[in-house]
Amino acid sequence: MIETKLQEAVRNQQAIYTDNPCLHQQLNPSSQIGLPEMRQAEARWQRFAPALARCFPALAETQGIIESPLIAAHTLIDQFKVSTPINQLWIKADSELPIAGSIKARGGFYEVLKFAESIALEHELMTQEDDYGVLCTPAARKVFSQYRILVGSTGNLGFSIGLLARTLGLHAEIHMSADAKLWKKQRLNEVGAVVIEHQGDYCKAVAAAREQASQDPLSYFVDDERSLDLFMGYTTAALRLQQQLQSLGIVVDTDHPLYVYLPCGVGGAPGGITHGLKHVYGDAVHCIFVQPTQAPCFLIRALNVDNPDVSVYDYGLSNKTVADGMAVPMASDLVFNLIAHEIDGYATVTDTDMLAWVKTVYQQLQLRLEPSATSGFAALQQLLTTKMIAHPDSATHVVWTTGGSLMPEAEFQRLLRS
Ligand SMILES: *Cc1c(COP(=O)(O)O)cnc(C)c1O
Repeated sequence: MIETKLQEAVRNQQAIYTDNPCLHQQLNPSSQIGLPEMRQAEARWQRFAPALARCFPALAETQGIIESPLIAAHTLIDQFKVSTPINQLWIKADSELPIAGSIKARGGFYEVLKFAESIALEHELMTQEDDYGVLCTPAARKVFSQYRILVGSTGNLGFSIGLLARTLGLHAEIHMSADAKLWKKQRLNEVGAVVIEHQGDYCKAVAAAREQASQDPLSYFVDDERSLDLFMGYTTAALRLQQQLQSLGIVVDTDHPLYVYLPCGVGGAPGGITHGLKHVYGDAVHCIFVQPTQAPCFLIRALNVDNPDVSVYDYGLSNKTVADGMAVPMASDLVFNLIAHEIDGYATVTDTDMLAWVKTVYQQLQLRLEPSATSGFAALQQLLTTKMIAHPDSATHVVWTTGGSLMPEAEFQRLLRS
């Protein structure tokens, strides 16, 4: 096979930006997920709010609503070495999401809550019209304790699902890939989750969890590679961001485009958010997927549309990266088929650049980010050095920072020194 320049660059671990080769080429029949479905998912979050407020004292103040701030980051603009103007730079700080400390509080939490709801309805603990606060009572815990949730993860998904499941009283079995950080496993052990460590990569951990779950009828497997519920949880972020931009008086239309930089692992989080944003803003929003140079699985899939089994290893890449949240060798086929035509561009970024941004963002804004979460800054730099964007003066850039606030101090200091 003759490789294109782009494929060669990927193979050579170069940091790149490219417009999406599949933009607007619908691969599969149009999906059934539109604004009505997103609003239903948002309604589920609202129904659950009283339960979350009751389970988690940290959520009392927001009455059980889990949302992250949109933070002005104009002081960071000077840090970009580009000639194109950036006038509006914001951070969508999912790193600050309560309880989980990462974007997984959207997808992961949503799926666990939906599962808990289905059990509670089945056991007639409540109806959909009742106050869901009942889900945080000893009676509900007793019912939940008959069930077990399993998941495979590089760290953050397992962490978020384990914490929420245990708080509700569900058993949790978390399969972690070799990338997972020790402190996440320790926290999970402390709350009574069973943590199973694997020597292999993310795909191996997911496969092991899937296999375990298939042998136990009272278990529920959260399938990060194939879950529509995770995807739905992520889509609702678009409705929340729309509200935040509106309340700041930030206009988004063709003359005022919105650029969103989304760190991507298997694709669920950036995919759900992209799909949601396209329903809200249409072509006025430009969604850029960002991946490490060693693990650009979604881009590689886009370069091989007919090969769902293609992996980063096929390009001679290691899948080893300091961005542990994105150490995923193969894209989700489900998500790829749903949204590959909606992504505007792909960027790949180096570990060195991500680590440099960890320091910069902390110095400038005192925001604690894990390396994955800073990849969007490196991507923005990459985009602006590669191409001219339309309406540069009036464009709003939003870098989605996906995790980090719960990192232990020692861990974070180590990152700052590296
Ligand atoms: C999970 C995660 C991502 C990527 O989400 P996917 O659904 O795997 O694409 C990015 N950053 C962080 C910090 C994450 O935890």
